[in-house]
Amino acid sequence: MSNVLIVAEHGGGAIRKSTFHALAAGQEIARRTGGKVHVALLGKGVSALGADLAAYGVDVHVADAPVLEHPIAEALAPVIADLAKALGASHVGAAATAQGKDLLPRVAARLGAGMATEVLGFGGDGGGVTFRRPMWAGNVLAEVEIATPVKVFTVRTTEFAPAQKAAAPGAVHPVPVTVDASSLRTRHAGFREVKSERPELTEARIVVAGGRGTKGDFKAIEALADALGAAVGASRAAVDAGWVPNDWQVGQTGKVVAPELYVAAGISGAIQHLAGMKGSKVIVAVNKDPDAPIFQIADYGLVADLFQALPALAAKVKASR
Ligand SMILES: Cc1cc2nc3c(=O)[nH]c(=O)nc-3n(C[C@H](O)[C@H](O)[C@H](O)COP(=O)(O)OP(=O)(O)OC[C@H]3O[C@@H](n4cnc5c(N)ncnc54)[C@H](O)[C@@H]3O)c2cc1C
Repeated sequence: MSNVLIVAEHGGGAIRKSTFHALAAGQEIARRTGGKVHVALLGKGVSALGADLAAYGVDVHVADAPVLEHPIAEALAPVIADLAKALGASHVGAAATAQGKDLLPRVAARLGAGMATEVLGFGGDGGGVTFRRPMWAGNVLAEVEIATPVKVFTVRTTEFAPAQKAAAPGAVHPVPVTVDASSLRTRHAGFREVKSERPELTEARIVVAGGRGTKGDFKAIEALADALGAAVGASRAAVDAGWVPNDWQVGQTGKVVAPELYVAAGISGAIQHLAGMKGSKVIVAVNKDPDAPIFQIADYGLVADLFQALPALAAKVKASR
């Protein structure tokens, strides 16, 4: 009864990287509880992806049906909850992505389970697992114990190294789907994907982010990002001003990133911004105010005008290639 069920995410005909981080979290729980890790893969025409996941040594349960074509939580949640019951899963988890945050609370409600969100790590021994999660924009780390028999969680992918392929693959099992499309109160209206040549913000090795200090001119930010092959991020001030798209926002109410290099230019370093990027391996701050709080967490700080410093940096990067 201590099996772990991880919900996979896919898009564009492939398993999303976030799934492999969630899988590693599931494997850590299984090591502590002595259970087995299973993966749920739901969608339409996804059966072929089952083998990609089974290569990680886990049993994959594939629910492949037209009603699951779009990630509508109302349709997916009952399938996952029924599967969790059938497998005797004591822990059900997923990555804390937009989809995971939407779906897992519904799964928890169906299972009468307590839930921990944005989990950073696990504690506890003797088979009992506790969940470490941030509170107050990451200023407090809470060690949470869930008292219900089944425990549901989402994990911050930046805190878990991705799972590794196993020598022996797991099995792939089909899952019957009985969800009646006509009973759903949620309908898929459309999907407007933002196409970009740049890497996805949460998966990029390098992020160059701009804030209010850009005064709405992101050309220098974008030019440095392109020279470095980086994704572009922004503070909420820049997003709220309407200068850049919503999905560029990094922080407590934006995306959480932990790239190898994070360049923050014209960003003061408010705690809500730091909550989304302070796990970055190397932080470079460019700010003309020497007292800006961002310098307290920066590995390298440059007191300079970003409109002069960034083009100079971009030119150096290009020259070194
Ligand atoms: C509930 C809540 C949630 C929030 N969530 C988020 C979130 O997810 N993400 C987020 O970012 N914020 C969030 N905020 C907002 C946050 O508190 C700050 O207001 C915001 O991060 C400030 O953005 P900024 O650093 O770009 O702007 P500012 O704080 O105005 O800083 C601008 C900086 O640019 C520097 N500067 C100006 N001109 C130049 C120049 N030419 N060259 C170099 N430097 C220059 C200035 O010295 C200054 O340090 C949230 C706030 C609340 C209350």
